[in-house]
Amino acid sequence: MSTTKKRVAIVTGGGSGLGLAIAEKFTTNGIDTIIVGRDEQKLKKAKDQLGDHCYPMTCDVTNLSAIPGFIEKITARFGHIDILVNNAGINMKKEFTEVTDEEFQSVITTNLCSVFAISREVVKQMLKQGNGSIINISSMAAQYGLPKVIAYSASKTAIDGMTRAMAVELSPKGVRVNAIAPGFIETDMTAKALNTDPERKQKVFGRTPMGYMGKPDDIGEAALFLASDAAKYITGVVLPVDGGNSIGF
Ligand code: NDP
Repeated sequence: MSTTKKRVAIVTGGGSGLGLAIAEKFTTNGIDTIIVGRDEQKLKKAKDQLGDHCYPMTCDVTNLSAIPGFIEKITARFGHIDILVNNAGINMKKEFTEVTDEEFQSVITTNLCSVFAISREVVKQMLKQGNGSIINISSMAAQYGLPKVIAYSASKTAIDGMTRAMAVELSPKGVRVNAIAPGFIETDMTAKALNTDPERKQKVFGRTPMGYMGKPDDIGEAALFLASDAAKYITGVVLPVDGGNSIGF
């Protein structure tokens, strides 16, 4: 990765939660960071917080046919794309038999199909440059079986497979591809999932050797590392950042 040129990153879902923490880490390290989401107000608030290195751009990542044009617009404006963080995601907690085909498809489209479509377009640019770093945000739902999140689990497990497949195909051409599997991190998404389910919350703490939930900043640190030259020999890994949750008894 070039050290002379200013680095440019795209963080999908960069307006809130883990994406915002990743974008904050990038911008404070001088990386021009495009944050992507549907909610213009949310993005504007994040821009106010992150300052000059932050560039909010609205896009619904499930609108797959609009993605090539959207990435082209970014390339035309910034000249190059060095880092892509596929972070935008939704969850849906429901009994297995209650999930409709439409609901299943909606989670898959947001969490998986959009990651493919965005990555494909960004990789076209990265291959022209001969370098780039892609980071997919996975989940503990891909490390072990979690009940009542069938579509989410399917999407995140596919993300891990896609990370490895992309890494073997693209790393010889200079594009590293890795994933981060966050454990239980304090965000709105987990608050919603755990505060309504004390038994699940107890289970989370019971199998997390460190005994507490992570902070969004922990994921930001991991993303900054994987995007940096310090990780130049790392590709195809799914890095758990989870206080030991994935290996907890
Ligand atoms: P949030 O709900 O806080 O953030 C999700 C972000 O994704 C929002 O900024 C939202 O922006 C964006 N987004 C959702 N759908 C779309 C869409 N169709 N188009 C564009 N942007 C979209 O969630 P978290 O920060 O908790 O989660 C971020 C990622 O981390 C997800 O992939 C999640 O699965 C993963 N994760 C989170 C964990 C946690 O503990 N929080 C644990 C494991 C994984 P907007 O509403 O503006 O569209």
